[in-house]
Amino acid sequence: MTVLVTGGAGFIGSNFVLDRLARSSETVVNLDNLTYAGNLDNLASLQGNPGHVFVHGDLCDRPLLDRLFAQHRPRAVIHFAAESHVDRSIHGPEDFIQTNIVGTFRLLEAARAHWDGLDARQKADFRFLHVSTDEVYGTLTPQDPPFAETNPHLPNSPYSASKAASDHLVRAWHHTYGLPVLTTNCSNNYGPYQFPEKLIPLVIVNALAGKPLPIYGDGLQVRDWLYVGDHCQAIERVLEAGTPGETYNIGGWNEMSNLRIVATICGLLDELRPRASGGGYADQITYVADRPGHDRRYAIDARKIQRELGWTPAETFETGIRKTVAWYLQHPEWVARIQQGGYRDWIQRHYGEA
Ligand code: NAD
Repeated sequence: MTVLVTGGAGFIGSNFVLDRLARSSETVVNLDNLTYAGNLDNLASLQGNPGHVFVHGDLCDRPLLDRLFAQHRPRAVIHFAAESHVDRSIHGPEDFIQTNIVGTFRLLEAARAHWDGLDARQKADFRFLHVSTDEVYGTLTPQDPPFAETNPHLPNSPYSASKAASDHLVRAWHHTYGLPVLTTNCSNNYGPYQFPEKLIPLVIVNALAGKPLPIYGDGLQVRDWLYVGDHCQAIERVLEAGTPGETYNIGGWNEMSNLRIVATICGLLDELRPRASGGGYADQITYVADRPGHDRRYAIDARKIQRELGWTPAETFETGIRKTVAWYLQHPEWVARIQQGGYRDWIQRHYGEA
C-alpha cells in the first residue's frame, strides 16, 4: 500500500515521513517542489530506503498529480504542502494564494478523479487528510474560551486567509462530491528540522550566534504550542480512525506568551551551553515593531480528538522544548547548511538541478 504526502520535505512533513517510515511498511510518495522551506537534508537518513519515493514537483501541476495517482494508486493523501510563514504572506501574498488555494484545489480534483475510478470498497477506504492551522479561527481575547471545531473561520492574515480558503474547498469536496476528507487544525508546532525563520528555532540559532533575539511589540501575544512528534501522531490517529467529513482540532494545552517562550529557551541555553562571554542569553532580547494585524491570542480546545479518537500529546512543553533545544545544539551542521544554502547544493548533487 502507498500514501501520497505533499510537502514532505518541510518541517512537519519531514517529521511525519520519518516517523511513518520508521513504524510502517507502506510506501510514501513524497511530492515537494523544494521552496526555500523544503529541505532534503531533513530526509537524508532515508537515502536508499525503497519505501520513500521523492518526487520534485509542484502541487499546482495537474498533469503531474494525475500521473502520480495513476502510477502509485495511493490509498490516502496527507496534504502538508503550503506556504506557511505569516510574515512572508504579509510582504508577498501571491505565492500563498497559488499554493495554498490553487494547489489544494488541483490536488482535490486529482484525488477526486482517482477516487471516482475506484471500486466501492476502495472508495470507502480512501482518505484525503488536509493539514491546517488554528490561525483560520482568527484571534481571541484573554477571556474567550479556546477555539473549538464549531468556531467560524475568521482569518486575519493573508496566510490564515489562504489556509481558511483551502479548508473550505476541502469541506466542499466532501459535501458536493462525497470525497472522504479529514481536516486537522493544529496550533503552533516546534521541534527538530524547523526552518529558522519561525520563533523557536530563530531564537535558538540567533542566541548561539550572539545575535539579537527579536520580540514583536510587547511580546505578550499568546499561542498554544505542540511538539511536532505529537502532531504527527495525531495525524496518524485521524487518518486511521477519523470520520470522513469531520474536522479535528489538535493542540498541546500549552498557552504561552512569546516572551515566556524566549525566556524559557534562554534559560535552557544558559544551562546547556553557557555564554562564553558571561551573562545570560536573555541579555540579547530586543523589542522590535509589532507585525501588522498581529493576532493577540490563539488557544485550542482539543477535547474532541481526545474524546473520539483517544489522542493526547505525549510531551509537555517542558520536555518538548528541552528536546528541541538539545536537537539544535546537536545539529549545528544542519543549521549551518540551511544558512549557507548548502541544501541547494545537495539538491543539485542528487537531482542535477538547483
Ligand atoms: P514548511 O513551510 O516548513 O513546509 C512546507 C513544505 O511544502 C516545503 O517543503 C515546501 O517546499 C513545500 N511546498 C510549498 N509549496 C509547494 C508547492 N507548490 N508544491 C509542492 N510543495 C510545496 O511548513 P510546515 O511548518 O511544515 O507546515 C506544514 C503544514 O502544516 C502547512 O500546511 C501548514 O499550514 C500546517 N501547519 C503548520 C503549523 C506550524 O506551526 N508550523 C501549525 C499548524 C498547521
